Amino acid sequence: MTRHGVTSGQGHPRSGREPRSQRSRRDPSLGLLRTVAGVTLVLALSDSVALCAPIGAHLLPAQGYPAKFNGIMPQLQNGWWNLTCPACKVIFSVINYGLKKEPNVARLGSVVIKLCKVLNIAPPNVCQSAVRLFEDDMVEVWRHSVLNPSEACGLLLGSTCGHWDIFSSWNISLPAVPKPTPKPPNPPAPGAPVSRVLFLTDLHWDHDYMEGTNPNCVDPLCCRRGSGQPPSSQPGAGYWGEYSKCDLPLRTIESLLSGLGPAGPFEMVYWTGDIPAHDVWQQSRKDQLRALTTVTDLIKKFLGPIPVYPAVGNHESTPVNSFPPPFIKGNYSSSWLYEAMADAWEPWLPEEALHTLRTGGFYALSPRPGLRLISLNMNFCSRENFWLLINSTDPAGQLQWLVGELQAAEDRGDKVHIIGHIPPGHCLKSWSWNYYRIVARYENILAGQFFGHTHVDEFEVFYDEETLSRPVAVAFLAPSATTYINLNPGYRVYHVDGNYSGSTHVVLDHETYILNLTQANAPGAAPRWQRLYGARETYQLPDALPASWHNLVYRMRDDERLFQTFWFLYHKGHPPSEACGSPCRLATLCAQLSARANSPALCRHLVPNERVPAALPSWSRPPFC
Ligand SMILES: [Zn+2]
Ligand SMILES: [Zn+2]
Repeated sequence: MTRHGVTSGQGHPRSGREPRSQRSRRDPSLGLLRTVAGVTLVLALSDSVALCAPIGAHLLPAQGYPAKFNGIMPQLQNGWWNLTCPACKVIFSVINYGLKKEPNVARLGSVVIKLCKVLNIAPPNVCQSAVRLFEDDMVEVWRHSVLNPSEACGLLLGSTCGHWDIFSSWNISLPAVPKPTPKPPNPPAPGAPVSRVLFLTDLHWDHDYMEGTNPNCVDPLCCRRGSGQPPSSQPGAGYWGEYSKCDLPLRTIESLLSGLGPAGPFEMVYWTGDIPAHDVWQQSRKDQLRALTTVTDLIKKFLGPIPVYPAVGNHESTPVNSFPPPFIKGNYSSSWLYEAMADAWEPWLPEEALHTLRTGGFYALSPRPGLRLISLNMNFCSRENFWLLINSTDPAGQLQWLVGELQAAEDRGDKVHIIGHIPPGHCLKSWSWNYYRIVARYENILAGQFFGHTHVDEFEVFYDEETLSRPVAVAFLAPSATTYINLNPGYRVYHVDGNYSGSTHVVLDHETYILNLTQANAPGAAPRWQRLYGARETYQLPDALPASWHNLVYRMRDDERLFQTFWFLYHKGHPPSEACGSPCRLATLCAQLSARANSPALCRHLVPNERVPAALPSWSRPPFC
């Protein structure tokens, strides 16, 4: 793996990992496997509890989750959340003892399945399928990596139970070219052309969606074949989707695409991934590829010749979040997925883009004169991508590649749009801090950043690194197409300074469209996609530049009604019935300021009381992805 220009920090000795060949010589001892079972269990099921909110950017106490949310996440109450530290260590000792007697992967899996059932982490069928699905990849990862029980329990239960430090720090090197003086873009001249860019994310097509089934089943995903019938007093899943832990039937995605007319015309489409459903405990590679080709074909059918630029989501692979960096070869590699993507997306992407897509799931291209579009594979920043336990230092050399692309764009006088799935504030710390530094360095040419993954409608403001006070960029996090969890289906349209000589290519405004499910599922109704709101009009913004979003956060801090508007739109017009009280409000606002992980200082001005930032890590927002 190339590490050109990347330097490791002074962190954990594991960061300078030796080549695979050296490692494997001393490797697959029983000791290496001692924690496999427990961590397999945790990571296999972590997606169903959706560990996807930004670290350190959360202010909502765990017990502050709405009751409805608790009701649909039974595993949170009954699972390993309840483990005490001594119990965790006892369990790992037992597993260790068992593994010393039996290093066989299948038997190891059986132990984990039993534990999963005994601890009531998930329904028995989910325990069985999830562990069988994850065990091979996880053991392969652990064969390259070492984890001791203290670290495992530290990961599971927090720093009071052990020290988790497997992701050490590292630094990207920036070119010696001095940073140009920061210069905000000039507003476009009156009457200058404006382009509309359709933004689709998190479609999450459920092949097994079935009207009338139980929306509140025990599995992590419901409204589907196998969910059973609802109790006679409760309605079953709606025809177009459901407000519950459910994904979308294909007909709703088809309806979305066929109803785009009034929102267009579009110059291009950004599509930031998560195509398959959340039935992560039972997905095969064949299932994932069927989702990829079915939805890609549908988009081609309805959008015709409009160019579509995709990014890779964390649900595209199976096991979910499993994205080995390119140094992993053979059957464990991601080539089964990237090759299929390159085939499916070949009409939209030039050859050089297809080349990097095949290797690492990322690419760059020039969709119009003066604009470079960079599609990042954010799975290489993800704390849920367990392959990064082997080596998390700039996986696939992607950030160093990004710097090269940005410098070349600066040299040419081009502007840049970045698209990706997982937003930068949700990334592993080192990746996130390096990305933040890169954004600050290239603030003059970064005209737009577009992400998804959280399923809700929000944004992340970037600041200059010296003072953390001057807004230098904003990343838009668009809401999902899927209803998961308790949301209306929706999509986003960005208004971008148009395709003409001298364009700034910046985002001028955005609009969000939804399908009101209550109305659509009513007897005799037809689905009606409607404009939910326009950003500048609703929030009274002078423009859509970073400073306006920064100001909006502080205006919402002081204006309860304005915040409640944001809260309603954040959930695509279907907010939880429980009100968002002070801690929830603070958590939500803090997240909009946290484009960098583990940076409580970014929220220091939200409340005058200096105690609050110190308390941030113990607060969190309920995640949806
Ligand atoms: Zn998603
Ligand atoms: Zn996602």
